[in-house]
Amino acid sequence: MRRPLLNRRLAGMGTTIFAEMSALAVRTGSINLGQGFPDTDGPAEVAEAAARAIREGHGNQYPPGPGIPELRQAVADHQRRFYGLEYDPETEVLVTAGATEAIAAALLALLEPGDEVIALEPYYDSYAACIAMAGAVRVPVTLHPPDFALDPDQLRRAVTPRTRLLLINSPHNPTGAVLSREELTAIAELACERDLLVVTDEVYEHLVYDGHEHVPLASLPGMRERTVSISSAGKTFSFTGWKIGWVTSTPELVTAVRTAKQFLTYVSGGPFQYAVAEALRLPESYFTGLRDDLRQRRDLLAAGLAEAGFTVYAPKGTYFITTDIRSLGEEDGMAFCRSLPERCGVVAIPNVVFYDDEKAGRPLVRFAFCKRPEVLTSAVDRLRQLGRQRQAHRR
Ligand SMILES: *Cc1c(COP(=O)(O)O)cnc(C)c1O
Repeated sequence: MRRPLLNRRLAGMGTTIFAEMSALAVRTGSINLGQGFPDTDGPAEVAEAAARAIREGHGNQYPPGPGIPELRQAVADHQRRFYGLEYDPETEVLVTAGATEAIAAALLALLEPGDEVIALEPYYDSYAACIAMAGAVRVPVTLHPPDFALDPDQLRRAVTPRTRLLLINSPHNPTGAVLSREELTAIAELACERDLLVVTDEVYEHLVYDGHEHVPLASLPGMRERTVSISSAGKTFSFTGWKIGWVTSTPELVTAVRTAKQFLTYVSGGPFQYAVAEALRLPESYFTGLRDDLRQRRDLLAAGLAEAGFTVYAPKGTYFITTDIRSLGEEDGMAFCRSLPERCGVVAIPNVVFYDDEKAGRPLVRFAFCKRPEVLTSAVDRLRQLGRQRQAHRR
């Protein structure tokens, strides 16, 4: 037998569900509430800043490895402005090709083969792949509906002598949970007690609703020196195609992450780095406006999904609503999502792909609400057919 081409670490990773479902949306002409990207671009002045940078010759050649100084300074200023966190832009900030590269570089830099990584389940799909590429072992701690709260005892029980790192994500994709100060304190205490590193993905830091607060894990006592914080411009500025992300941490951890990063992309997005440096300095009204806008869209989609018969777990943050389809008489989210385009012309994501515990994820389905209100309204109109189909079926 010939050896399989794809190595053992990546075996079974297949194609990401987002590619499969987005292709299905195109093929069937469905409304795509699967992948989390906005259907309107971010601020015109930020787009203009990128165009100006290209025209004026800023960043058209390889930018510096750690990122342009203007962006590193803007990231440091952003951390101070919103959270009172101090980072030295020279040694404690690293610009990456989106949060995705930051996650990959952090895990590849910090893990030895066989190390255990505790990740909140359901987990963003790149976590599993990067842990595997590092040869490490994923240990999920499951968040359960209705509120997807973290059980600190379950987290504590997951730690073994082989645990190297906690991989945290808040605001949390796909559940929309936002870890409370109490939950974060439990994580911080455990990390300090067991001397664990923490990588925290905070790309939805500005998308938190209803007066809930995003608390960066690095702001808790004892955490700054052990935490690699990751964010990016994609979600905050509605330019997910630009792929400008960043890491903030100690000089030692930033150096480690940069060592891996330099051999992944080396550098990326020169002109976009200039534009994002300007975007991070937008006034408060931009950030509150974005949040209010998305909250309204969340409410529109949540009400429509509930009317259509889904059990809706209202998210505190992010772009996503997780639903349970058992109230529609359905059991299997994967089969449901594969048939949904045919049945009513809408695409969603089956949460089971974010789980090791297939039973926990099976009936859950994720919808993205980062779309224009008229798109959400017509998606909801289409989804109402599900209830009607069900009644017709019963008759
Ligand atoms: C979108 C997303 C990312 C990827 O961010 P990029 O900056 O586009 O690479 C990372 N983590 C989570 C949880 C996300 O939802």
